[in-house]
Amino acid sequence: MKNKLYIALFVYTSTSLVYAMGPIQQQEFPIIINDEQVSKYNQEGKKLTADVNQLQKIRYSPELDDKITEIVETVKERLVWLGEFTVKAKDFLPQDKYEDIEKNLLFVNAIFRKEYNRLILEKKSQMALAYAQAHTCSGCSKLTKHIKQCTRCKNRKYCSINCLRDDWQKHKNECDQYIQDHTCCVCTKVVKKINQCSQCKKRKYCSRSCQVQDWPSHKKACLKITIEQ
Ligand SMILES: [Zn+2]
Ligand SMILES: [Zn+2]
Ligand SMILES: [Zn+2]
Ligand SMILES: [Zn+2]
Repeated sequence: MKNKLYIALFVYTSTSLVYAMGPIQQQEFPIIINDEQVSKYNQEGKKLTADVNQLQKIRYSPELDDKITEIVETVKERLVWLGEFTVKAKDFLPQDKYEDIEKNLLFVNAIFRKEYNRLILEKKSQMALAYAQAHTCSGCSKLTKHIKQCTRCKNRKYCSINCLRDDWQKHKNECDQYIQDHTCCVCTKVVKKINQCSQCKKRKYCSRSCQVQDWPSHKKACLKITIEQ
């Protein structure tokens, strides 16, 4: 009988403790949404809209890769912060106000996802295109993993020695022309991206340093050519 009483007492106290802890916890850790947070919400919302607008305007290109990644990351962070805020705000804001901010958030979230997927697709298709361009035989147009280059100009690609030989009669003149157009006048290197002297447009350089090196001796001739033009 005594034991039973103790058990009953124990059960009674522990239940009241649990009941008591509920409200105490809420009192100790209330979720306060103050004016500062609301104004931060509005600022973040404006920035998010600006970021998403910027994303909508960007067409993917490898040069913009870092910039796009940066914007996507900030947009993601903002969405997470605003999402958490929106959940908290549910208990504090009047229903219609809460529904408004939730609607806006869902809307930008949807646009963000759409833009993100579009950029990923553009990136993938650009990569596929670049791969195809770099791995297509200039002779038979076959796509080949291990492609060989014309050893002279390094600008034509072939799937096999046979294709290289078959194409040579056709490519010969083009090869000479390419080498002529893409040879650095200082170090004689053949490069794809060649820079011209911006004044006379006659001398070609592989790099800025070759151009600087050539300038003392080219200066006079350059001036003469420029005047004659
Ligand atoms: Zn081929
Ligand atoms: Zn060639
Ligand atoms: Zn050079
Ligand atoms: Zn010049």
